[in-house]
Amino acid sequence: MEKKQYERPIIKSLNQGLMNKFGTRTEYMPVTHIDGVAVNELLQNYGSPLFVISERKIRENYRNAKRIFETRYPKVQFAWSYKTNYLNAVCNVFHQEGSWGEVVSRFEYEKALKNGVPGSKILFNGPDKMDDDLKVAIQNDSPIHIDHLDELYRLIEISNDMDANPRVAIRVNMDTGIYPMWDRFGFNYENGQAWDAINKIMANGRLRLVGLHCHIGTFMLAPSAYGIAASKMSELALQIKNRYGKIISYIDMGGGFASKNTLKGSYGLGADSVPEISQYAEAITSALLNAGFDNEELPYLYLETGRALIDDAGYLLGSVISNKRLSDGRRATIMDFGVNIMFTSFWYDHKISPAQEFGHHTEDCVLYGPLCMNIDVIRENVTLPPLKAGDHVVVHNVGAYNITQSMQFIALRPAVVMIDMKGQPHVIKRSEQLSTLEEGEVVPDYLSKFSL
Ligand SMILES: *Cc1c(COP(=O)(O)O)cnc(C)c1O
Repeated sequence: MEKKQYERPIIKSLNQGLMNKFGTRTEYMPVTHIDGVAVNELLQNYGSPLFVISERKIRENYRNAKRIFETRYPKVQFAWSYKTNYLNAVCNVFHQEGSWGEVVSRFEYEKALKNGVPGSKILFNGPDKMDDDLKVAIQNDSPIHIDHLDELYRLIEISNDMDANPRVAIRVNMDTGIYPMWDRFGFNYENGQAWDAINKIMANGRLRLVGLHCHIGTFMLAPSAYGIAASKMSELALQIKNRYGKIISYIDMGGGFASKNTLKGSYGLGADSVPEISQYAEAITSALLNAGFDNEELPYLYLETGRALIDDAGYLLGSVISNKRLSDGRRATIMDFGVNIMFTSFWYDHKISPAQEFGHHTEDCVLYGPLCMNIDVIRENVTLPPLKAGDHVVVHNVGAYNITQSMQFIALRPAVVMIDMKGQPHVIKRSEQLSTLEEGEVVPDYLSKFSL
């Protein structure tokens, strides 16, 4: 018998354009307007690509989340997570709605102060607070969320020097059934570190322990994890009362609620499968209410929700540069925006809509950005009507982290426009110019001349 020829095994990607059990993918509905403003007008007036933020959507999201928590728990306070999107206009919409500020670095802290947030309403998180940052936070009466023992000791020394009694919380990490565990920040609950920190604070007497903080992860798909975390936090608070007679005034549950984005590799669309805010709220508030607090000693519930309040308020508009066929026959479309301004495309399959009407035909394609870099892929496989050079698209759910994590590489970063409640666009960040980039550059004299 003749030996069969060896064939190398291949791995073929799933054809995501086919129907799955949820029906066809609905990504290719045209989106011609955002909050009543025409996409092509926006691109014409402010350039392509362009970030667009819907003020209406932010307020809607915020009010919805606030209502959901407040109908379940009597004492709720949101604090806007600056790192999620710290454009001042965006922060101020949240502050107008009543949200405090939550920061993880000195410059974010300064931003919040400059925006007019009273120091006492800026929660100072993060592992990297230098002595001077701690001093400023003490002077402004900001709650300082202590991350590690070195910070605790430094804070005690600085407070002694200043003869101050700052308000502090400790960050607690814990096993919530979600792995890998986020245990690099704060003090662990299970191994006794959290108690060690509490005992040290109480024995020393210099710092006023007013709260407990946790942030158990990000894009958390299991509301039950928040229930477990809230129970453990409550347990700590109740034991502090037992042991020291000290009433903890707030429990801060951090952020991490999932937005409506679709994680890479997930079966259904994020919009259909991620938990609703009400599910997180139910888990957290039930745990707090059933923990055994006396009614008048119920702690405030602080929330530092970021992405779930802003992601779907942000759009990225862009244009097609060109089309080509790859060597395997697949269609490739090159866009004028890349991963430099869409950092989250590394873990999400962003929904992308053509911004103009089109026919019936669709085709699977790869969407590339404009950078000279192999990893500049916006979507590895998306079913879209054939787009031609000059056509426009709208990328959805880019309000969280894309602007704060954007990278100045090869291309200048685009403008950001906010559409107000009346449908009026406002530039809230101008596009970068060469001068923006060179602002901090210095060319030593001896390098200023050459002849070629
Ligand atoms: C990043 C962060 C948040 C916000 O997280 P989201 O996933 O955007 O909700 C809140 N609190 C802390 C301490 C954070 O580091």
